[in-house]
Amino acid sequence: MSHTGNGYRHGMSPTERLEHYRSKRNFSSTSEPDGATSSSPPSDETRFVIQHHLASSEHYDLRLEHDGVLLSWAVPKGPSTDPAERRLAIRTEDHPLSYADFEGTIPADEYGGGRVIVWERGTWTNSTHDDDGRVDVDDAVRRGHLSFEVHGHKLCGGFTLQRLDDDGQWLLIKHRDRGADARRKPTSTEPESVISGHTADEIGDPEAPS
Ligand code: MN
Repeated sequence: MSHTGNGYRHGMSPTERLEHYRSKRNFSSTSEPDGATSSSPPSDETRFVIQHHLASSEHYDLRLEHDGVLLSWAVPKGPSTDPAERRLAIRTEDHPLSYADFEGTIPADEYGGGRVIVWERGTWTNSTHDDDGRVDVDDAVRRGHLSFEVHGHKLCGGFTLQRLDDDGQWLLIKHRDRGADARRKPTSTEPESVISGHTADEIGDPEAPS
């Protein structure tokens, strides 16, 4: 989960943007998608996904579809529906679109080894504005302030990702809107995958012989 630089430069193709992702993984060992082929059909709606990842340090991976890749942040404590909570979010490398459906075990000796479930998914829209009007996603990420709306199963309404420093540390903050609720703790009360209904604890042990 440690930050390793995103490697993104403006105008890069999805293939170029995923070089960092591929360089960290051995696809003859891990069952994660290699992103070499686009296995996800194009869609008018941009998807978001949050994967619960039980790795050496437990975290939630927030991924936002944009320009043929999944922009990614690792959120150690996961998202909160309480606008008073500020959750650390560490920018990680862009992932292939096909990663949005990935659940399973990553071998323990591989990068990110552990168990992954799709804890939440749905669609998202950019809502970033400045004094001059709408700000596109690339500019918002470059400037370090991205506001967006999600429509998922467990989360809805606005969130902001606010960059803290040049080492990839951001904060994820819920907006005060209809989706805000300081009492809900969805990472605790709704731990199951929205695909399989299983929790990350319940899927196969990556250490066990197969
Ligand atoms: Mn992860």
